[in-house]
Amino acid sequence: MPLAPPPLSDKPLEPGLYVVSTPIGNLRDITLRALDTLAACDLVLAEDTRVTGKLMAAYGLTKTLERYDEHAAERARPKVLAALQAGARVALVSDAGTPLVSDPGYRLVLEALQIGARVFPIPGACAALAALAGAGLPTDRFLFAGFPPPKTAGRKAAFAALAPIKATLIFYEGGSRLAASLADMAQMFGPRQAAVGRELTKLHETFLRGDLAALAADPRVQAPKGELVVLVGPGEDEPASEADADTALDEALARLSPADAAAEVARALGLNRRELYRRALERKGVR
Ligand code: SAM
Repeated sequence: MPLAPPPLSDKPLEPGLYVVSTPIGNLRDITLRALDTLAACDLVLAEDTRVTGKLMAAYGLTKTLERYDEHAAERARPKVLAALQAGARVALVSDAGTPLVSDPGYRLVLEALQIGARVFPIPGACAALAALAGAGLPTDRFLFAGFPPPKTAGRKAAFAALAPIKATLIFYEGGSRLAASLADMAQMFGPRQAAVGRELTKLHETFLRGDLAALAADPRVQAPKGELVVLVGPGEDEPASEADADTALDEALARLSPADAAAEVARALGLNRRELYRRALERKGVR
């Protein structure tokens, strides 16, 4: 039985590749445009035809489904590109969420563009963004880092490279690796706020929030069931040291008056302008 009769659009689809987001758990998280596209396209490329078949059946849609997963992609791509060149409307979906986000499709999009086909994103659910929306961590700058390497040495190297980036970091992770991954994060990122979003949009949706060390020690992170997103906040800015301030002041004093140098350094380092002015006069030998 369909979940609801979709009020489908009767506008014809233009030829091209449609990158269609599908739900990450809750079947109702699908857009009307995604349903329009799946209903009207000539072919649906699916990471797993059974998974997509169930979604289509839930909405009363029937369509030719072809497998397009990591293994089939290389072989399937020439045929798909030929169909696009011939003016077909092809929809690409993954098992959950937005294709290309830790899922196949990047090469297909690239090569479709290279042969002059149009590519239409049909936006919708994505676990990374759902987790970001509910985590309570800063959202002004974020970086999606995909799955961390599976072994601790590779993981620590990857985290060390990410540590200087001032942004909320978003990772996908499996339950069996969560505790080890959080322990490595606590070591490499230091005391930062973090969150684990589990089974988002599903019956057992939960968020764990806290600083990294506390989360790593939480018994609930020991091999939890279900799907997970880990988010690590950007951490506090270290206050600039006196030595940093003096270096910046000396550099600015070579170009500017003490008052202007103090104002520039105060702005750049978030320090007190009057105090910097006093130091600037001292460094210039003026009383
Ligand atoms: N393309 C998908 C997207 O847009 O989110 C991600 C595909 S990736 C192969 C699968 C990973 O996404 C899972 O291992 C998990 O880390 C995360 N994920 C997917 N669905 C989720 C959910 N409902 N709750 C939490 N994490 C989820």
